[in-house]
Amino acid sequence: MTPVAYLRAADTADALRLGAGDGHRLLGGGTNLVDLMRKGVEHPDVLVDVSGLPALIEEAADGSLVIGAATRNSAVAAHPLVRTRYPMLSRAILAGASTQIRNMATMGGNLLQRTRCLYFADAAGSRCNKRAPGSGCDARGGFTRYHAILGASPACIATHPSDMAVALAALDARVHLASATGTRVVALTDFHQLPGDRPDVETVLAPGEMIVAIELPPSDLAARSTYRKVRDRASYAFALVSVAAALRLDGDRIADVRIAMGGVAAKPWRAFQAEAALRGGPASAEAFARAAEAELADAAPLRGNEFKVPLAKRTLAAVLTELSGELA
Ligand SMILES: Cc1cc2nc3c(=O)[nH]c(=O)nc-3n(C[C@H](O)[C@H](O)[C@H](O)COP(=O)(O)OP(=O)(O)OC[C@H]3O[C@@H](n4cnc5c(N)ncnc54)[C@H](O)[C@@H]3O)c2cc1C
Ligand code: SF4
Repeated sequence: MTPVAYLRAADTADALRLGAGDGHRLLGGGTNLVDLMRKGVEHPDVLVDVSGLPALIEEAADGSLVIGAATRNSAVAAHPLVRTRYPMLSRAILAGASTQIRNMATMGGNLLQRTRCLYFADAAGSRCNKRAPGSGCDARGGFTRYHAILGASPACIATHPSDMAVALAALDARVHLASATGTRVVALTDFHQLPGDRPDVETVLAPGEMIVAIELPPSDLAARSTYRKVRDRASYAFALVSVAAALRLDGDRIADVRIAMGGVAAKPWRAFQAEAALRGGPASAEAFARAAEAELADAAPLRGNEFKVPLAKRTLAAVLTELSGELA
């Protein structure tokens, strides 16, 4: 057994001070990090517990909702302002994991959870460029049912597993970061990175930097939003494909729309092309199908996950149909 030191941060400054240094890692609810330590994928020397930092959900003067990074997933899903103003976020969180895990999991930890690629988790037996850069990728030619159809690279075909992050991408959420040298704010859609030739670099988070909050801007369309997750089992299963969408109609035309997809790429996939195809046009089955075609035009499925392309198109169209009030 490898000994690991455990420290508890009193506040953000304390977390930044204690968390600095090689082998020091922040600990949220531990539902992912501790799992990966047991599997021999992660090897921290020092864990700095940030789960006791303030669990805030506060409305800012401009109407934004600011959620502290240590806030538990279950608290966010149940919050009245989240449920009424951003229902897709509540639904996305509740579509993930189990009640017990959501009670432990934090917002920061959820955004930074690692891929569920089986070969990544198999530290003893599989080659993985994300775990050991340059070693190869045993998922290629292997079991690819859960792997990416968009934005993958020769080095890595993993997907990002978070349901919550898909809703945050559609909601134009912003991630507040802090380091010893200051603070900055990054759009959620820019926070996670596609693999390219460095699949081990998953986000824009710099060494020594931490997530302090997630901001949801006011939205005139998010109140009419939803999240649909297609998976192999009704619970306790990661998404094969998921869609978060918000729609505002002006008569029978689409005044504005936001769409993001999960289970298809190494990051929550904001469907900018589908949105552009829909904005200002009719809210019709034909328009939804065309938008889905546009978004999936560059899909590059693998042997074993070809089914995801038609599944993603149909799920996207079905969610838009549901939101526009037509029969699904
Ligand atoms: C059985 C099971 C089923 C699951 N099913 C689903 C599912 O269907 N959908 C889904 O979306 N998720 C699912 N999950 C994943 C779950 O949502 C994540 O494990 C959880 O959200 C991680 O949050 P945490 O606070 O426990 O993170 P931790 O495990 O504590 O940390 C994860 C990472 O975040 C870092 N970190 C934590 N806080 C901060 C911070 N403030 N700043 C910077 N870095 C930080 C840690 O250093 C670590 O690298 C499942 C998990 C399990 C175990
Ligand atoms: S797909 Fe990515 S995470 Fe999975 S084995 Fe290949 S390199 Fe590793």
